Amino acid sequence: MDFSFTEEQKKFRQEVRDFLEEEIRQGHWEPSCDAWIQAYNPEFTKRVAQKGWIGLTWPKEYDGQGRSYIDRLILTEEMLRYGAPTACHWFADRQVGGSIVTFGTEEQKKELLPQILRGEAYVGLGMSEPGAGSDLAALQTRAVEDGDDYIIDGQKTWTSGGSFINYFYLLARTDPEALKHRGISEFIFPANLPGITRIPMVDITGTEAWNDVFFDGVRVPQRYLIGGKNRGFFQVLHQLDYERSGIERLMGNYPLFEAITQFSKESKLSQEPLIRNKLAQLQIEFEVGRLLTYRVAVVMDEGRAPNWEAAMSKVYCTAFEQKLANAAMEILGPYGQLVAGSKRCPIRGLASHSYLGSKGYSLQAGTTEVLKNVLASRGLGLPS
Ligand SMILES: Cc1cc2nc3c(=O)[nH]c(=O)nc-3n(C[C@H](O)[C@H](O)[C@H](O)COP(=O)(O)OP(=O)(O)OC[C@H]3O[C@@H](n4cnc5c(N)ncnc54)[C@H](O)[C@@H]3O)c2cc1C
Repeated sequence: MDFSFTEEQKKFRQEVRDFLEEEIRQGHWEPSCDAWIQAYNPEFTKRVAQKGWIGLTWPKEYDGQGRSYIDRLILTEEMLRYGAPTACHWFADRQVGGSIVTFGTEEQKKELLPQILRGEAYVGLGMSEPGAGSDLAALQTRAVEDGDDYIIDGQKTWTSGGSFINYFYLLARTDPEALKHRGISEFIFPANLPGITRIPMVDITGTEAWNDVFFDGVRVPQRYLIGGKNRGFFQVLHQLDYERSGIERLMGNYPLFEAITQFSKESKLSQEPLIRNKLAQLQIEFEVGRLLTYRVAVVMDEGRAPNWEAAMSKVYCTAFEQKLANAAMEILGPYGQLVAGSKRCPIRGLASHSYLGSKGYSLQAGTTEVLKNVLASRGLGLPS
């Protein structure tokens, strides 16, 4: 295994770092935890788009850069290291754009891909429902053909993007008579169609990054169906590998890792054997997680679907992030509970935010238990 980067990759990493440091120097934003999923900053996304850093791996015929998944990993690793506010473009760039490239019609590609590349399409993921999470194929939202449209009725929950998104990615049942995996289709459509109601879900950290979304007789033109009718479940599996595999599962809280290490260095805590041990252990696990994410990118560059590799990486990396948050709380003691803005709050409230937020990491994008099942059956070949 060759662990080294090419000269071009090293130069690219430096270019991304220089860009992000300049952004921070100019005071455009402050590094934050969970920024890839919670920090919506349209101006930043525009500047990233102008650099050509959205759609990096898409084919050149669709105005992507045709670059490798390792290159994209370098880009995202640096964005996460600096806690950059990438949420506006993250989901479209990571998975939905790729689905349109793979399964979309030429008309969809012409309409949607340029908007994503310009950093103007903010896509939220509408997969889960109150009765369909791990068992996604149990979803009940219906899409019924009516003339040139589908009429959509139902409810999604935990839809990313809060009030920011201007496009929904939606999974809906298009054949209620078929076996449950076989009667589902994928759609992407503007979020402002009549009949859509979004209700923010205030999560445990106090943010409104997710929504309950209600669809009441929403007319969606047929041209927004992605790929084959009733092929949605099989198509979305392709997308889920991308959703699970990224380094955001390891580095979503990197600003906390840096801040708690620095805090320990600058205080007497650095002399405490238990604290030194905790930080050293975290560093070991961070390096292992990083290698797992790079392996997924290698598999993707080889053109293979990284399903068990992505499952392994997500299980390991999200457990790391939970350990990091726990360790930060233990190191800071009662002060760790203070939230950003309160007097005496250490390290900008990053510890309390991550401690609360990290509970959801082993649920979102597939729970740890379900992913271990994927690993057992697809990785180890155990009977399902
Ligand atoms: C912070 C956060 C963000 C999210 N963002 C989005 C989003 O943007 N878009 C979206 O569509 N959804 C999103 N989700 C929803 C997420 O995908 C689901 O919560 C997840 O798939 C689990 O589904 P559930 O909550 O219905 O739990 P359930 O599926 O009901 O699971 C409950 C428990 O049972 C266990 N379990 C279930 N099935 C099995 C099995 N076969 N074997 C062993 N154990 C099992 C689970 O591991 C879990 O512990 C988000 C969730 C969270 C917490």
